[in-house]
Amino acid sequence: PPRSTLFPYTTLFRSDTDLASMRQELGAAKQELETLYAALDNVRSGLLILGSDLRVHYSNPVLHTMFNVYSAKQIRQERPFYVDLLQAAASASAVNLDDYVARRLAWVASGDQAAIDLKMTNGTTLRCQLAILPGDGRMLIYSDVTDIIRNAQEMEQLATIDGMTGIYNRRHFLTLADREWDRARRYGRPLSFLMIDIDYFKAINDRFGHEIGDRAIVHVANLAGGCKRTSDVLARIGGDEFALLLPETGIIQAEAVAERLRCEVAKCPLADVAHSATISIGVAMADADMEGISDLIKMADQALFAAKRAGRNRLVRSIAPTAAPALTSVDDFEAPTENEPSKEPAFKIGT
Ligand code: GH3
Ligand code: MG
Repeated sequence: PPRSTLFPYTTLFRSDTDLASMRQELGAAKQELETLYAALDNVRSGLLILGSDLRVHYSNPVLHTMFNVYSAKQIRQERPFYVDLLQAAASASAVNLDDYVARRLAWVASGDQAAIDLKMTNGTTLRCQLAILPGDGRMLIYSDVTDIIRNAQEMEQLATIDGMTGIYNRRHFLTLADREWDRARRYGRPLSFLMIDIDYFKAINDRFGHEIGDRAIVHVANLAGGCKRTSDVLARIGGDEFALLLPETGIIQAEAVAERLRCEVAKCPLADVAHSATISIGVAMADADMEGISDLIKMADQALFAAKRAGRNRLVRSIAPTAAPALTSVDDFEAPTENEPSKEPAFKIGT
């Protein structure tokens, strides 16, 4: 028979076979997809899969606990646009960022794979990462990093703060002081430093016990905190020893700050005991001969030693061995307003 009469039959026959194998393939693919979705359902991060049209194709249960918008079923049935999901999250005020929707859309479209942290209104932080899928789809991966961030903050706190007083510790002080030194040098600004030590502290411990001794340390730290400007750097750098770095401050004002603190400590008795601690203070100002912050600290330390020798409860100004000029000329120097006015204080400075 002519080929043309057989053709429809052949086509029909082959089409049947194709259909059966296609059905089989489809079944296998469906099975594979279900397996993959079931696997993704068990991932502990929130997952969102978007097509290239930015419609949501899949979301896992964890995502819904994170954002609490749209059910998994709704997502499968409606395939909402990602922008709808964002808007729902924003209006449910799960997220509280300005331009949230626009910025998220731009980020997803850009394919930028750098992680972004999202602060949620319930206090958690979600780290969000983007993966580009075949066919220009996207997978968004949300991990709850609240604990990691909190731990990192605690670690940083532990590394920089003195546990007893809540002011900076020695190590962090040195880091900050180096920075202040560089800044003062670069811009020719004045920089002064106070080395503060409690007088006869061993005797306080011996007489009242270590607990009161500890409280005396906190007491002095609090009073010093009250005497300083926000830009001043206060730290506990030893058992009963404190450092106070005063940027933008010349020697006269540094002495005024030191004297005010000395008076405060002497007149404020320790809680629960009829005793006021006293402190001695070495005062120094950076000059052009010094090579680094450690020189400034050394000068103040020597002045502190002199204050102790001269009888304690006093401050001593460090006298540089060579009369090197200050980092700035006095004329250039604008007095900061937050501290005492720049006038010679009414006290005697021993040497
Ligand atoms: P000076 O007037 O010469 O400074 O005499 P001082 O007795 O204060 O001598 P010094 O500054 O050398 O003494 C520091 C003492 O502080 C030594 C140590 O027993 C005590 N100390 C150090 N750290 C702590 C602390 O955290 N708590 C308490 N209670 N005592 C401490
Ligand atoms: Mg002491």
